Amino acid sequence: MGSLVTAMASYCQVKKSHGQWLVRIEDLDPPRETAGASKNIIATLVKLGFYFNPEVIYQSNQQRQSAYQAALDRLIEQSVVYYCSCSRTELKNCTLKTHACRNQIAPPKKPYSIKLKVPNKTVTFIDKIQGQYKKNLQQDCGDFILKRKDGLFSYQIAVVIDDAFQNVTDIVRGIDLIESTPWQIHLNSLLNLTQACYAHIPILVNDQGQKLSKQTFAKEIDTKNPIQTLLNAYDYLNQEPIPTQPKTVNEFWQLAIDNWNIEKIAKVDSIEINS
Ligand SMILES: [Zn+2]
Repeated sequence: MGSLVTAMASYCQVKKSHGQWLVRIEDLDPPRETAGASKNIIATLVKLGFYFNPEVIYQSNQQRQSAYQAALDRLIEQSVVYYCSCSRTELKNCTLKTHACRNQIAPPKKPYSIKLKVPNKTVTFIDKIQGQYKKNLQQDCGDFILKRKDGLFSYQIAVVIDDAFQNVTDIVRGIDLIESTPWQIHLNSLLNLTQACYAHIPILVNDQGQKLSKQTFAKEIDTKNPIQTLLNAYDYLNQEPIPTQPKTVNEFWQLAIDNWNIEKIAKVDSIEINS
């Protein structure tokens, strides 16, 4: 339900402005994926009446991986990255100032991750829902991983490259990702990419304040009663009630999009789910 509410908000926002809604499978960590999970997600979206790009991008795709590597190479050329071979404990015990790896410009013999060395720079953006968001990269955000010790690319670099590749103009996502935004804006500017607009919506949490996910045993979406499922999700977005009971999923979307006003979304971090 948490993912559906986020998807619904981005869908309504995009469709209200006659845009295209894109689906991308961010399968950067193949060992951690459940077999068939992405197929299930796509099938659920279809059952719920979402229309999206027929060619869904998979980040595990070799072509995408090469694009991330090419971007990483450009950052290495700019000397804005370093090689870190610290353990978790070592990292816990050092600060940006005392982290010796920050001066390591050649790959060490030990296994290493590649990190971006953030400058003392403040990043500001206007979020369509949350308003002005302002963070200093060194004081508030810190350095971040571009490629892990095990050779996997990080979410930060992959999304920035793919957003540019897919000409994304508007990003509507859960507020749990707002802390990544200054990093992504910084990466964007280092790579000379066009900056998209952001809107971060509150996330659904259970009665213990935890984000709904498999780890917190959230229930699967009910696709047997798709209209009711869609209406339940819409309820969390603080919109005007839908004026008539829709008879089909397409009719639901028409009413939901006509009704949509992003400014009505609550400017909070989380919404507790009804049990
Ligand atoms: Zn280190």
